[in-house]
Amino acid sequence: MRLRKPEWIRVKMQGGVVSNKVKSLLSDLSLNTVCDEANCPNRMECFARGTATFMILGRNCTRNCTFCNVTREMPDKVNLKEPENVAKAIEKLNLKHTVITSVTRDDLPDQGANQFANVVKEIRKRTPNVTIELLIPDMQGNKKLIDIIIDSEPNVLNHNVETVPELYDEVRPMAIFERSLELLSYVKKVKPNMMTKSGMMLGLGETKEQVIDVFKRLREVECDMLTLGQYLQPTSSHIEVVEYITPEQFDEYKEIALSMGFKRVASSPLVRSSYYAEDF
Ligand code: SF4
Ligand code: SF4
Repeated sequence: MRLRKPEWIRVKMQGGVVSNKVKSLLSDLSLNTVCDEANCPNRMECFARGTATFMILGRNCTRNCTFCNVTREMPDKVNLKEPENVAKAIEKLNLKHTVITSVTRDDLPDQGANQFANVVKEIRKRTPNVTIELLIPDMQGNKKLIDIIIDSEPNVLNHNVETVPELYDEVRPMAIFERSLELLSYVKKVKPNMMTKSGMMLGLGETKEQVIDVFKRLREVECDMLTLGQYLQPTSSHIEVVEYITPEQFDEYKEIALSMGFKRVASSPLVRSSYYAEDF
């Protein structure tokens, strides 16, 4: 039986309509935002604060995570104008901080690493003061490709572990928890001053001990920042919510994570990986 959404989720979900101005700008430049695609409940708030998350490299993913609402048809052709268009949109929207992410492109020889680097380059050309966070796929652990991304010098390198390792087979069947940890560890080895960040969705059936163990393992690779939010089932064909974590439990996780040495922690039901990213 599907769980009923608690009040603290329902109230917020009613808000959040993206302005037509923003929508038409994005469509003129053939750009996708996660904010819009994922129907994110925080859109009004984020756009008003001058932040948005762009999704590059198309809409179709080569992976099959059971929580995710992206489509899995033929991967799109890489749009070489996309880096410039993202930079133009950031300038026009007067953003102060941006998050750039992508679907996973296992089909491309460089898995999209050069597109990420080119987006950073174009943003720096037009708006050198905008802070840039890259939320990247695991690049199949290929260090040469990760180097291309690190060398573009984003302000923050984010890679989500998404859930506890015990649930990977069910939730991220094509990903490997240790490979994701290794990516975060490698970034710190190559660029100790680059801020690293990761995040998890809660409510998929993980235990408190398993969650805290992930905090520990993220700190072992010196991950600086952490986001924790409630998993919400996008459609009935996606993996079901097992539990709605209470706001109090999110607060407790935040305290625990901070005490373990994370520099910043965003933890509440509607936190998404990019929520209040500019404050990090
Ligand atoms: Fe966009 Fe992230 Fe804000 Fe949601 S939380 S509106 S995805 S920037
Ligand atoms: Fe969604 Fe990312 Fe998984 Fe692709 S790899 S299905 S975009 S969560």
